[in-house]
Amino acid sequence: MPRRTKIVATLGPATDDPKVLDKLIHAGVDVVRLNLSHDVHESQHQRAERIRNRARACGRQIGVLADLQGPKIRIGKFKQGAVQLEENGEFILDAECALSAGDQERVGLTYPELVKDVARGDTLLLDDGAIVLWVCEVEGNEIRCKVVVGGKLSNNKGINKQGGGLSAPALTDKDRADIQFAAEIDADYLAVSFVRSAEDVIEARRLLEEAGGHGGIVAKIERAEALDCIAEIIQASDAIMVARGDLGVEIGDAELPAVQKELIKKAREMNCVVITATQMMQSMIESPIPTRAEVFDVANAVLDGTDAVMLSAETSVGKYPHKVIEAMDRVCLEAEKQSTARRSHHRLDTVFGRVDEAIAMATMYTANHLGVKAIAALTESGSTVKWMSRISSDIPIYALTRHVRTRRKVTLFRGVYPVSFDVAITDVDQVNEEVIDELLRRGEVRESDLVIITKGDRSGVEGQTNIMKVMRVGEHVLADKLNEGDT
Ligand code: PGA
Ligand code: MN
Repeated sequence: MPRRTKIVATLGPATDDPKVLDKLIHAGVDVVRLNLSHDVHESQHQRAERIRNRARACGRQIGVLADLQGPKIRIGKFKQGAVQLEENGEFILDAECALSAGDQERVGLTYPELVKDVARGDTLLLDDGAIVLWVCEVEGNEIRCKVVVGGKLSNNKGINKQGGGLSAPALTDKDRADIQFAAEIDADYLAVSFVRSAEDVIEARRLLEEAGGHGGIVAKIERAEALDCIAEIIQASDAIMVARGDLGVEIGDAELPAVQKELIKKAREMNCVVITATQMMQSMIESPIPTRAEVFDVANAVLDGTDAVMLSAETSVGKYPHKVIEAMDRVCLEAEKQSTARRSHHRLDTVFGRVDEAIAMATMYTANHLGVKAIAALTESGSTVKWMSRISSDIPIYALTRHVRTRRKVTLFRGVYPVSFDVAITDVDQVNEEVIDELLRRGEVRESDLVIITKGDRSGVEGQTNIMKVMRVGEHVLADKLNEGDT
């Protein structure tokens, strides 16, 4: 049984070696994330090319997600790469310190205006709250702090103000340039950081389309304000990300589990994809095995119904990039065997608005109750398989499409697997045979397995799926068999 939950891995210096990329691919990565907070366009461009080349060589589809920095405030770099902050020591955030000139005493800031936004008594959280600083005084360009919780602080770590309330627009000038870049590399998804409202998502989509991009928009939910208008944000987005790092700092870590469950539930109800992100296997940056808590966290996200689980530093700068994917792979696979991950009461009481949506729902209902081995959906845009993948099931959904962009897009959908397939063949019965032959060739089905095929009368047209066909491999149409059995 293939894994249904998808794995998103952030690329970085630790994955630049093509040999490492091959290991990530073999370990089962589905989507790679380019974190545009780090590195120049040239190296990110190379990463996108390299993964696509290696994926092609390995015969796989891998989606590319370009993740905008947003108005994230970060510290600059340290001359020595990192410093050790001691509890009760002093440390200065210095708006005028050069971005590469940090040392044991002070470090620069990507957002010099921070000095205007903080005052004595504020608490600043660095590196998703791993380091806590208390503001003693603000003088000129210096924020002088006392170290409340110390530890290792490395280059470019983020800064949050406890309780939120830093006001900067969701799309910075850098983000606008990065959207252009995302269009240039034909990213399959664009993630928008610190979304506050549906308008931020709509604006990002407009900019991406203007730049000629085709990617889906991922709204990163990491601000308290976003939770107040979450339905509108989900409506405007192709996917949301439960961005637990910044969100946890804004709303408090204890609030996170309930919010994660609610966000996943809501997204699925509203036909939106959802990624669960940040610190999922954090200890594996340094260690070859995850902690028990991390194993539970990943498994629980799967049971909550997430489409994808995401890795950040674990892969981009970690010591064991492919081992962490292997660990996620095995934890997801086991979690998916739990009965709650396989049965659905999804949308039992709703009215469907479209024929293709109704076909998708009927397919899943039938598949889950008839012991079907595989679902093969002939799809143009991937919308039918997206609906299907909102339903809990343990039956693989193959998205057969001639469009490479659709194949890459569905890499993020739970339980959906892309297959290159051209529906230019016009004879209806021949299409069915071809589909089954393709699944047989891939070893996905065997003689006498049941398969459901969905398609449209007019193949090759978007949103036209209106047929659901149940077939038995190696025999005729199921209806014939059932009739025979009756007599
Ligand atoms: P980041 O977003 O890694 O870009 O900060 C994810 C998060 O905040 O959890
Ligand atoms: Mn974030």
